[in-house]
Amino acid sequence: MNYIVFDLEWNQSPGGRYRENPKLPFEILEIGAVKLNGRRKEVDRFHETIKPLVYRSMNRHTQAVVHMDMAVLNQSRTFSPVARSFLEWCGRNPVFVTWGPSDLFELQRNLEYYHIQYKFPKPLLYLDLQKLYSLAYLDGKKRPALQEAVEAMEIPEEGRFHAAFEDAYYTALIMQKMNIKPYLHYQSVDYYHLPENHEEEFTLNFKTYTKFVSQLYPDKETALKEPSVTALSCNRCRSKVTKTIDWFAGSGGSMYYALCECPRHGAVKGKLRIRKGPGEEIFIVKTIKPATEEDVAEIESRKEAVRERRIRRVEKEKAKRRAKRAEEAAAAGAAPKTPRKTAKRSRARYRKKTAATVTEMPSKES
Ligand SMILES: [Zn+2]
Repeated sequence: MNYIVFDLEWNQSPGGRYRENPKLPFEILEIGAVKLNGRRKEVDRFHETIKPLVYRSMNRHTQAVVHMDMAVLNQSRTFSPVARSFLEWCGRNPVFVTWGPSDLFELQRNLEYYHIQYKFPKPLLYLDLQKLYSLAYLDGKKRPALQEAVEAMEIPEEGRFHAAFEDAYYTALIMQKMNIKPYLHYQSVDYYHLPENHEEEFTLNFKTYTKFVSQLYPDKETALKEPSVTALSCNRCRSKVTKTIDWFAGSGGSMYYALCECPRHGAVKGKLRIRKGPGEEIFIVKTIKPATEEDVAEIESRKEAVRERRIRRVEKEKAKRRAKRAEEAAAAGAAPKTPRKTAKRSRARYRKKTAATVTEMPSKES
């Protein structure tokens, strides 16, 4: 087994979103990679630039970051032969390692665009070193820039950043320098090829949690009706659990939370993340983990916050309706049944309104 630590540089539409090819928003211009063996010793390197066929000039934002010269790129081979060489160089069953989740996704989008045959496992697991670095040295949620990690690890900065080979090389050095063993099981799942039907939906059992990935659904309402999406079981013993807090939406509406109890292992928490698929469709990523006392308290307070927000919203709507009724009553000439202060204000508003709209008022005689 080899680790393929790789990095890509890509261009995007120089004419902005409007002129973009929706099938290939990001065109790969460079592939850089370092092959490490199972003991993380370097065994080989790969580096090639690519002649673009879709976007023939550089997007100015891309240019500012990658400093690539079109004249040089035009001397290179096109994507198809370079990608074939790269895939062959990767060998059998590589474990891909990248800094962040986008390189593996864009590699597959480019392969698909040029109809290049490739066979990655489904689901495709890989190591997002940016995530592992964060788990090891930061809070697990932050996603630091590669340069930040290189500086923090006191790795000599020999090449510039945002060049495919240099970035892959730095990523490999970080992987070598990290005490990676405790984090190797935090594999990431690639979301380029999503399950195409119910049968292909999958659950991965990791050491500390389980992850479920759904097929595509037209919207979250449809997805949330699916038992496979909302089912909960203990991530340690897979046995049935009793729900203590049923799924509820967090404040943004893209996350749902639930709490349940395993008879053997205690509190277990569920989280649903609604993710955008290609086009308008969505898919669901569900994780189930043991819940600590703090987790339980956090979910309870989240639920309470949602309840309070709902109450406030209802109260606001009620107040709005009351004010409207009072205004209508005032307009009809009846004494408004509101407290004096409000009445005074709505009378003032009424006067202003009538003054402005007097010509439009139907006369009583007509
Ligand atoms: Zn259990």
